[in-house]
Amino acid sequence: MPAAVKLENVVKRYGALEVLKGVSFDIQPGEVVALIGASGSGKSTALRCINRLERIQQGRIEVCGREVSDEAIDLRALRQEVGMVFQSYNLFPHMTVGQNVMLALRRVKKIARPEAAEIARRVLTQVGLGEKYDSYPEQLSGGQQQRVAIARSLAMQPRVMLFDEVTSALDPKLTGEVLRVMEDLARGGMTMVVVTHEMAFARRAANRVIFMHQGNVHESGDASILSDPATPELRDFLEHDL
Ligand code: ADP
Ligand code: MG
Repeated sequence: MPAAVKLENVVKRYGALEVLKGVSFDIQPGEVVALIGASGSGKSTALRCINRLERIQQGRIEVCGREVSDEAIDLRALRQEVGMVFQSYNLFPHMTVGQNVMLALRRVKKIARPEAAEIARRVLTQVGLGEKYDSYPEQLSGGQQQRVAIARSLAMQPRVMLFDEVTSALDPKLTGEVLRVMEDLARGGMTMVVVTHEMAFARRAANRVIFMHQGNVHESGDASILSDPATPELRDFLEHDL
């Protein structure tokens, strides 16, 4: 089976600024990887390169055996395979929760309304929000809105999900409910790359932790590296940056 995600010596520059300096890692199907590191270390850029929101200058990225850097790649198909959830959930305020979740199913996948509605109910139930189907986003808490955003992504049946600091805008009370949904997904076998500052979550849910430092993978391993870092940079990050 090919890796779900494979980066080989990926170099990403913005002008003269080299943001990814030869990043390599593999994520196997069903694996949950926590991507950690200080602000500016290149975590978001790495995620954005995986679903080709950004182009790379050197190296190679594959998703489920397909080369992302190939100019001829079908971006629409790629983005159906790779779901992404951000810190800001960007739900449409004038649409109900159900309509928000159904939108891409209808527009992108061309699924008929009754079937799309059924899928929306199923994924909303999966994130614990089945009863909010007819609510509007403003009637929900931030944590609930973020769970809707996760459901919207799940509805497309991605093979890989990328999460970029999805709880950073939430107060601690609401963070837990979002992390629990992500842990359920992880237990259900979803392949996930999770950029997070929640080290307790990384310990519980991640099969592997990748620590980025100044555009490189500086240290990686199982969650035990969080208790016993090998490099002074990871030690320093864990002591000071969280
Ligand atoms: P992280 O997510 O780890 O905080 P980022 O991947 O967002 O880091 O950013 C890595 C570096 O790339 C930072 O120095 C940031 O300022 C720079 N950067 C990110 N996006 C852009 C952009 N669109 N143009 C120029 N520089 C960028
Ligand atoms: Mg970031």
